[in-house]
Amino acid sequence: MVGIINAVPPENLDEYKNVFVFIELRNGQLSRPGLEMIGAGMNIARKANEKLIGVMIGDDISKLAEEAGAYGCDIVLGAEGKELKEFKTMPYSYIIGEFIQEFKPNILLIPATRNGRDLASRVAVRSKAGVTADCTELDIDMNGRILLAKRPTYGESTLAEILCKKHRPQMATARPGIFKIPDREEGRKFQKDIRKMKVPAEMMGKEIIEFIPKKSLDLTAAKIVVSGGLGLSKPQGFQILDELANQLGGVVGASRPTVDLGWIERDHQVGQTGQSVRPDLYIAAGISGKIQHIMGMKLSKNVISINTDPNAEINQYSDYIINDDLYKAIPALTEEIKKRKEAKKAD
Ligand SMILES: Cc1cc2nc3c(=O)[nH]c(=O)nc-3n(C[C@H](O)[C@H](O)[C@H](O)COP(=O)(O)OP(=O)(O)OC[C@H]3O[C@@H](n4cnc5c(N)ncnc54)[C@H](O)[C@@H]3O)c2cc1C
Repeated sequence: MVGIINAVPPENLDEYKNVFVFIELRNGQLSRPGLEMIGAGMNIARKANEKLIGVMIGDDISKLAEEAGAYGCDIVLGAEGKELKEFKTMPYSYIIGEFIQEFKPNILLIPATRNGRDLASRVAVRSKAGVTADCTELDIDMNGRILLAKRPTYGESTLAEILCKKHRPQMATARPGIFKIPDREEGRKFQKDIRKMKVPAEMMGKEIIEFIPKKSLDLTAAKIVVSGGLGLSKPQGFQILDELANQLGGVVGASRPTVDLGWIERDHQVGQTGQSVRPDLYIAAGISGKIQHIMGMKLSKNVISINTDPNAEINQYSDYIINDDLYKAIPALTEEIKKRKEAKKAD
C-alpha cells in the first residue's frame, strides 16, 4: 500500500502537539456530528493549551472553512478538489495520513458516523495507531498529554477509560448526538490552509460520476421521535407510527431488532449502535427498554412509553406510561391530534 506511516518511536512522543478534529461534510455542508467534534476537541485543546485544528476534505470548501473557524477552530486545514467531493475511504485516509505526518497532532477525533468509523480505522492502520471507538466522554489528563477516552462497555453497564500511551496520534471516534456544538462567533480570528493535494491514482478507486443523496434523516436534530420496537410484531406496523409522527411533525425511530429484521432502514435506529437522540418528546411503542436502546434516548426531555407489559424496563425512564396495546393506543392518539387540529382550524 502507498505511503504507510512508520510506527512512532516512543522517544518522539513529545513532538506530537495539538488536537485534530475531522469535520465531516454532508451534502456539501458542515454536518452536525462534524460540528460536535469541534466542541469535543475545543475542550481538550483549551485544557492542554494547544491548538484546535479542524481537518476538512471536499470540493470548494473555502466558505465551509470560514464556518469552522467561526465555530472555534484555531486552524482549518483542508484538501479540496472535484475528485474529493464525495467521501471515499482510501483517498480521505491518505490525505489525513499526510496531514498527520506533516503536523504531528497529539490527538485526532473523528465522528463515529458510518463514514467516520470507516475512515478512523483506515487512518489508524496507516498511522500504526490505535483507535478508541464510539466514545461518549473525552478529556485530557492533568499534564495535557494523554487523551482520556471513555466509552460504554459490557452492554453499556460500565464506562471504560482507554488510554493510548505509546503511539501517536491518540485517536478516538465520538458518538454523534453526545457532544455539544460550540457557539458560533462571527468574525473570529483563525488560520486557513486549504490545499490541492495529489492523491496517488491507485488510491482513488472508481470515479463517482453522480452522487444522488438519499433523503437524509437526521434523527439527532428531531424535536419529536416516535419509535417502534418488536412489539409492532410486523414491518407494516411502522405505518401507524409514521402517521402519528406526521401529525406531530416528528420522525420515526426504531429499536435495533426491527432494523436487523429489515422492517425499517438503519438510519432510524436509536441506541448504542444507532443514533443518540435528545428530542423534546420521545414515544417508545412496543420497546422493552434494554440498556442498549436507553443509551440512545436517555437525554430526551419527555418520554411516553406504550407497552402491554406494566413492568417493562422502559417505564423506569418514562414520564408517561400507556399500559396498552400499541395498535389501540397509537391510532387513538393520532385521531385525537387530528381532531384537535381540525377544531383549532375551525375556531
Ligand atoms: C452490542 C449490542 C448493541 C445493541 N445496540 C442496540 C441499539 O443501538 N438499539 C437498540 O434498540 N437495541 C440494541 N441492542 C439490542 C438490545 O439489547 C435489545 O435486544 C433491543 O433493544 C430490544 O428491542 P425491542 O425493545 O424492540 O424488543 P423486545 O425487547 O422484544 O421488546 C418488545 C416489547 O414490546 C412489548 N409489546 C409486545 N406487543 C406489544 C403490543 N401489541 N403493544 C405494546 N407493547 C407490546 C413487549 O412487552 C416488550 O416490552 C444491542 C445489543 C447488543 C448486544
